Order: sequence, then C-alpha cells, then structure tokens
Amino acid sequence: MQKRTVANIIAAESIDMGGTKVKQALPTVRVEQISPFLLLHHFGPTKVEAGIDPLGVGPHPHRGFEPVTFLYQGGLHHKDSRGNEGLLQGGDVQWMTAGMGIIHSEMASKEFLQQGGTMEGIQLWVNLPKQNKMVQPRYQDIKSDAIPTIKEHGSQVRVVVGNYNEIKGPVQTYTPLLALQISLETEGYLEIPIPKNYNAFAYILDGAAKLNENWSYEKETLLHFKNDGEGITLRGIEKSEILLLAGLPIDEPIAQWGPYVMNTQTEILEAMRDYQMGKMGVYIN
Ligand code: MN
Repeated sequence: MQKRTVANIIAAESIDMGGTKVKQALPTVRVEQISPFLLLHHFGPTKVEAGIDPLGVGPHPHRGFEPVTFLYQGGLHHKDSRGNEGLLQGGDVQWMTAGMGIIHSEMASKEFLQQGGTMEGIQLWVNLPKQNKMVQPRYQDIKSDAIPTIKEHGSQVRVVVGNYNEIKGPVQTYTPLLALQISLETEGYLEIPIPKNYNAFAYILDGAAKLNENWSYEKETLLHFKNDGEGITLRGIEKSEILLLAGLPIDEPIAQWGPYVMNTQTEILEAMRDYQMGKMGVYIN
C-alpha cells in the first residue's frame, strides 16, 4: 500500500465559546477547510459536579450543511424545530442534516445533571453540495451498539460512515464519506485504506500514535493527509483514541456566516431572512 504523507499538522487551539472552552482543530488560519469538512471542535473531557452543564448550547439555527456530534462520554439531550428529540450517551453519534433549516439545542441530559460526571465529544460540520443544501432536514440518531465494531491487532474500529473491511457504517450521507472511531492499545496496529480521491485527516483525542511506522503525534493534534497514497497505518504508542475522517471533496464556492454555510452571499441573506420568518421551523421549549 502506497502510504499517504502529511500535508499539515494542526494543534487544536483552545477557544472560548460564551464561557465554554473547546479545542478547535478546524478551521485554522492556515487550513480553512478540508473539504467537505468545515469545522472540528473537541470539547472535554470535562468533569463536573451534579447540577452543572459543562457544554449546553441553547436553541440556534443551521442551514446548508450537516452538524454532527460524536459523544464519547456523558449525556446530551437534543431537541429541534422539526420535532426530533433524542438522548445521546457515551458512544452515540448524532448525524443531523440541517438542509434548508433547523433550530436545535444540545443540553446536558437530565441524568447527567442529576449525577454529574465527565462530558467529552466532537462536533463536526460536514458541508453539503449545492444540489442538497436545501433538502428537508434529517436527523440520524445512532446508538452506540448500532455501530459495527471490528477488533484486530490490539485495535478497535467503529465504522460510523462508509466501508472498512467490507463492513458498512449505519449513517447515510449525501456525498461519499468515511468516518471511523479508532481505539488503539499500546502497540495496537491498524492499516486503513482510504479511497485515493478522498480528502482525509485523523484527529487524536487522547494518547499518542505513530503514523506509517514513522512519525509520532500526540493528543489534540489533527493530521491532514496529502492525497498521495492509498491509505495510512497507525500504531499506538500508548492507549489512544483517534477519529479518522475522509470524503470526496466538494469543489464549489463557500459563503459562510455564523451557523449558515451556502454558496453565495445572497443565499446567506436569504437564510437570515428565512430564520426570522420562521421558515426553519419553530423551536418549542
Ligand atoms: Mn448546532
């Protein structure tokens, strides 16, 4: 296998989002996007007492892309303007298509608030192509045990989207993607084929790992790969947690403002107007 080399090494930067600290690995000044991936935030692990919501975000709109939550630890309660309500627990994945518009909130679950605990997750924004930006919103609530898991050579791979070793992940997407949640033991080893025409990166949540038996990288680092090979290998230097994401790039102009990702400035203004006119549904508390 011809191995992909590294294009950019990005250290996630701590940012403050209205009192909540998150680590931002995408976008950065140097790397605006790794199409179709626009944003990656890593929150936690944050341990709190009962009664404290370490992350909660109240109702806010989205249009034109897919906001995704990988919850690693803790409990979240999701609610939106399209009548969806869901409870996420450690290991669950929420893949939402904002499409033409949705208003949602993500707050600590009742159980988490009662007991306290540790919250950790990844928030990912996946762009939609022009032809799918205004589709009807869709909510895919994937429970941990619905994600196929492959264990080999001291490693564990959970296939969320796309194919790995002939195993297909449960999430439906509008463009071809690969999303793998990888856990490595010390010396755990994996060879991961990645389609040649996909953009790809790996984000290390925890631990430290060796790429292609060569370079070592530590947690809170995003490794953006060049499109110069058929895949990568990973080896755990210690117990590690890695999120691998890859996808066919969307080669279209991007106009972004806050929670809206469209192709033109006019479409951004339309999104602002449609939100105010209640066309993204009504969020009922
Ligand atoms: Mn959101």
